[in-house]
Amino acid sequence: VQRSFSTNLPALQHAAAAAKSSTVPNIKNYINGEFVESQASKWIELKNPATQELLGMVPETTHEELVEATKSAEYAAKEWRKTTVLQRQRVMMDLQYLIRQNQDRIAENIVEEQGKTFVDAKGDVFRGLQVVEQACGLTTGLMGEKLTVARDMETYMYREPLGVTAGICPFNFPAMIPLWMFPLSIAAGNSIIMKPSERDPGAMMMLAELAAEAGVPKGVLNIVHGSVDCVNYICDAPEIKAISFVGSDRAGQHIYTRGNANGKRVQANLGAKNHAVVLPDANKQATLNAIAGAAFGAAGQRCMALSTLVMVGESKEWLPELAERAQQLKVGYGMDPEVDLGPVITVQAKERAERLIQSGADEGANLLLDGRGIVVKGYEKGNFVGPTIITDVNANMECYREEIFAPVLVCLNVDTLDEAIELVNANPYGNGTAVFTNSGPAARKFEHEIDVGQVGINVPIPVPVPPFSFTGSRGSILGDMNFYGKSGLLFYTKPKTVTALWKESDATHNRSSVAMPT
Ligand code: NAD
Repeated sequence: VQRSFSTNLPALQHAAAAAKSSTVPNIKNYINGEFVESQASKWIELKNPATQELLGMVPETTHEELVEATKSAEYAAKEWRKTTVLQRQRVMMDLQYLIRQNQDRIAENIVEEQGKTFVDAKGDVFRGLQVVEQACGLTTGLMGEKLTVARDMETYMYREPLGVTAGICPFNFPAMIPLWMFPLSIAAGNSIIMKPSERDPGAMMMLAELAAEAGVPKGVLNIVHGSVDCVNYICDAPEIKAISFVGSDRAGQHIYTRGNANGKRVQANLGAKNHAVVLPDANKQATLNAIAGAAFGAAGQRCMALSTLVMVGESKEWLPELAERAQQLKVGYGMDPEVDLGPVITVQAKERAERLIQSGADEGANLLLDGRGIVVKGYEKGNFVGPTIITDVNANMECYREEIFAPVLVCLNVDTLDEAIELVNANPYGNGTAVFTNSGPAARKFEHEIDVGQVGINVPIPVPVPPFSFTGSRGSILGDMNFYGKSGLLFYTKPKTVTALWKESDATHNRSSVAMPT
């Protein structure tokens, strides 16, 4: 039977739309299937980073409300785990349909709250949708194992849900990263409490609305808003068994340590400093295009942005051409179809990027392209930073050591591929890297000697699609179970192994054996 979905979704507190009316809306929590107003006494301003327009107020959810969300999730998890994976998979099929239908609407919200361009925001939704597609095929993913281990005796293993889980999200992918978390958790039979970024919670709110329409029962998916207190509650609440976190080093280290101390499973993806290594035999035009796109796209606010360029040998001669290409990129409001990059998320993020650019100049690097002070007509108050290229950087400089998270590319020169590999491996982060070359042996050497979890060969942003997992390494991850793919499914389930003996009744023995069974 073809299910029909409403095209006119309920009047969700869509921050951007509501902000066009005279009152600024309070962003609601989503508890037990209802969008509910928080009784919070502390609220956080939600602003459009291109205009500073106040879009809404985000609550610091109260302790009582967090308890209520947890109780609802705990109750729902007990019922939800009794459904079959086939039933849950069917809900995911409807969810993936609804997300595709609403992709533009979600992307528009992302432009307003986060600032990236509309086409990039659609990519944000699409890369998350791919995880929902994975969740549509869990029947094979959740199949168990069985072996006859003795006469009439079989051992079998299957994976069970954990119960209540939680997801804590960053601002830079307001759709994709929540979608790394809740679809697999729910499809595996858990309930989940999501804590979206307080800077752009709108996409998650819309996704919850769609999940409800797809048939996710009340309490299986909840949303609570807030910042540190809310996160600490999630780390401590004994009912919550596992935490998925993506965000900065500081928050991630805190959540990993506190969650683990409370006996929880924690997967935490942290910061990055991704290097592109360019060999002189690379295809120059394709390489420069790839680097400009990956360094400055999304205003450099991707955890897989190529923020560091390592030019090997004479490839350093290409830098002026790279600067020309970067200069052609248009900075502005994300809904303008000609715009290539939007603002950074906050005034503070802009000031920090500008300070780090200045630190490069102060420490002796060269500002080949300086994007500070850019003014966008009609959006004069926006947090804009233009594409910036800092050359002659060395590994001791602050602009190299810090993750800048803005459209700022720092460039280092080395003489050989070995030196480039040594440099990348000495950096504490290991999220992603890319090599640009036409030499198979050089690419192969790079692939095998580089100590980074995600490697691109002539591919600038090598984020794997499911069924592979997102496999950042070293300083870019805490915990050993990755997001989505097979590993994601392992994270949200635990194995149960059963050994069963079924034989015809045997009345010949009347004495117990006390030895270890062999
Ligand atoms: P953030 O750490 O400031 O915020 C992430 C979440 O943690 C938010 O929900 C926030 O409310 C909470 N939080 C922030 N500070 C906290 C604290 N002191 N205690 C407890 N909770 C806290 O990160 P962000 O600025 O939103 O996101 C950008 C960062 O995320 C960058 O470092 C980027 O590299 C990283 N990131 C990593 C990946 C990855 O897969 N490795 C993906 C996306 C983003």
